[in-house]
Amino acid sequence: MASTARKVEEPKIPPVIENKMTKRRYTVGKFLGKGGFAKCYELIEEDTHNVFAGKVVPKTLLQKQHSKEKMAQEIEIHRSLDHPHIVGFKSFFEDENFVFVILEMCSKKSLMELHKRRRALTEPEVRYYMRQICFAVKFLHDTHIIHRDLKLGNLFLNDAVEVKVGDFGLATRVNFEGERKRTLCGTPNYIAPEILCKKGHSYEVDIWSLGCILYTLLVGKPPFETKTLNETYSRIKRNKYTIPPGLDADAALLIRELLQDDPKARPNISQVLDSAFLQGENIYSRAKYFSFSGFCPPRLPSSCLTTAPRFD
Ligand code: ADP
Repeated sequence: MASTARKVEEPKIPPVIENKMTKRRYTVGKFLGKGGFAKCYELIEEDTHNVFAGKVVPKTLLQKQHSKEKMAQEIEIHRSLDHPHIVGFKSFFEDENFVFVILEMCSKKSLMELHKRRRALTEPEVRYYMRQICFAVKFLHDTHIIHRDLKLGNLFLNDAVEVKVGDFGLATRVNFEGERKRTLCGTPNYIAPEILCKKGHSYEVDIWSLGCILYTLLVGKPPFETKTLNETYSRIKRNKYTIPPGLDADAALLIRELLQDDPKARPNISQVLDSAFLQGENIYSRAKYFSFSGFCPPRLPSSCLTTAPRFD
């Protein structure tokens, strides 16, 4: 019977695409990855040979008013942001079949691939990545944006192994001080308890996700991981996680502060940046000074993507 069922043909992506407004043309290069709606390709700008990442979304997937609005909201938020640790938004345009979003290229993939390859990272690396993520989140919160899906796969790395926060598909704007968001269409990876319990949520959900990210980078696995989503959600609601013995005391303290069940009890992003773990190097602590334990490298070599660096 399958032979009679006709599959709707997806339109093919042309080899060269053009932004009719600016007359800029891009050669479509290699496939970078696939998301919920978008396929992502390397795009080479014809005039300059600059390389970008192009998200290509077939309009067949944007027929429902709701999907159109979500895509428009993602673009509206992302295009308004300009920060060294947020994926740069260059432009967007469409042809009859596709919407194209032209983004800064992050050629070293994301912290997801890094995590899969390396598992637990060294403390100085974690400090390096976390500080950059927190700089981006501070900028977002200062501009009244909640990302709502901070996870390793949305923390991209450029050629210089610098973090670029991306994917604003679940992001939202806070319209007035004290506003509590009631709905969220999608399933964030490191979901906060107040979202699961539908209590109303705000900036604190990003702080919770930072706690999950910090834990995962240091320990090598997420804090609430189980075999099933239901069991994971149950652990999140019961705040059931354990910190392995031997973890740096400043890191353990920060994890406990970030992963508090009560959103009001969590530190704000400026307080996170001021924490002993992220401030690092404390010249008054001889033990720390000689063990390099507060060290934050100014940059990391590409070899870190596959093997642990040595800082001695
Ligand atoms: P999602 O559906 O999760 O939003 P995206 O559409 O953002 O996924 O991205 C899909 C894939 O495309 C990613 O997993 C990644 O491999 C790749 N990608 C996205 N943005 C970039 C970028 N700026 N640079 C390089 N690759 C990217």
